[in-house]
Amino acid sequence: MKANLDVQPLSSWINTNNKPLIIAGPCSAETEEQVLETARGIAKEGYAHVLRAGVWKPRTRPGSFEGKGEEALPWLQQAKKETGLPIAIEVATPQHVELAMKYDVDILWIGARTTVNPFNVQDLADAMKGLDVPVLIKNPVNPDLALWLGAFERIAGAGITKLGAIHRGFSNAQETKYRNSPMWQIAVEFKTHFPQIPMIGDPSHMAGKRAYLSELTQRAMDLSYDGLIIESHRNPDEAWSDASQQVTPSALKELLDGIEFRKATYGSDFQSELDRLRQRLDNLDRELLEVLASRMSVVEQLGEYKRDNNVAVLQLDRWKQVHTSRADWGKSLNLYPETIEELFKLIHMESIRKQTEVMNQTSAQS
Ligand code: PEP
Ligand code: MN
Repeated sequence: MKANLDVQPLSSWINTNNKPLIIAGPCSAETEEQVLETARGIAKEGYAHVLRAGVWKPRTRPGSFEGKGEEALPWLQQAKKETGLPIAIEVATPQHVELAMKYDVDILWIGARTTVNPFNVQDLADAMKGLDVPVLIKNPVNPDLALWLGAFERIAGAGITKLGAIHRGFSNAQETKYRNSPMWQIAVEFKTHFPQIPMIGDPSHMAGKRAYLSELTQRAMDLSYDGLIIESHRNPDEAWSDASQQVTPSALKELLDGIEFRKATYGSDFQSELDRLRQRLDNLDRELLEVLASRMSVVEQLGEYKRDNNVAVLQLDRWKQVHTSRADWGKSLNLYPETIEELFKLIHMESIRKQTEVMNQTSAQS
């Protein structure tokens, strides 16, 4: 793997006055009016540095709105002319790249469904040879860090030096709180490989619902992300794509006003390394708790099942098996077996408490 990509700092291609880069705009460009009205709203609020809009939409199922295509590009040009905001769109094919250049698009991004496919990424890289345009690369839909890194190597290999990563989370096999699981650890790992590449959070596609935007935005800022890309629409409920995660330009202003933007810490090398490691620990602990919470919800289902089949909560054989197997698994991971045994005693006790609660709920009802 190429250790060092030739990357220019964010500040060399966009001036954000040392503040996080804010990219805002609708999921999709739908009509000229919708693009212009949304762009004017965003410009009026004054927080954004870049206007985004999807022109070709990669939809999971056919039959959804797939974007207006080339027809929408003059609308974006007009929005740029009126607001002075540079424009960013998603490109997924060499033809998209060509059209983006024809209509003076300022920043390109590669979508999550494209990053998964090295053939597509290489085709885009070939189409970008000789261009001087910033390119942002979204994480692939599946949690595969190597695919994400590989996409950067391919695009950098084409001579693109203005690069940024967009962390939009990873798709889920089961229903979870967020539309796409953030798996923050993967973005943190990304930083260890390419520390010079700015990291931009995409709380919209992580959240799926506007109610979760704020907590995810705060989390990204707590992890010192360099920017945000957030979907904003003049009339979110009527949006032709991703309606439930979009917010109006003024709601976005309110949301951003509520975020604590941490000051960049310029300590000694020691201090920043310490902070980086602590941040990783905080992150891992949160993930541990998220896993624990999923475990408790399975425990609850198990309690209900036992209750409905009239089975006692505690089966001694299972209890013993849990303790020895976890200690063994821990050992194979270089964890101290006695500690793991103690830890699982606590976890198991809590599971029994929960299941007993479930049992009693029924007896109270019957
Ligand atoms: C988008 O930004 O509208 C989009 C399609 O995102 P993603 O590639 O992350 O799904
Ligand atoms: Mn979208």
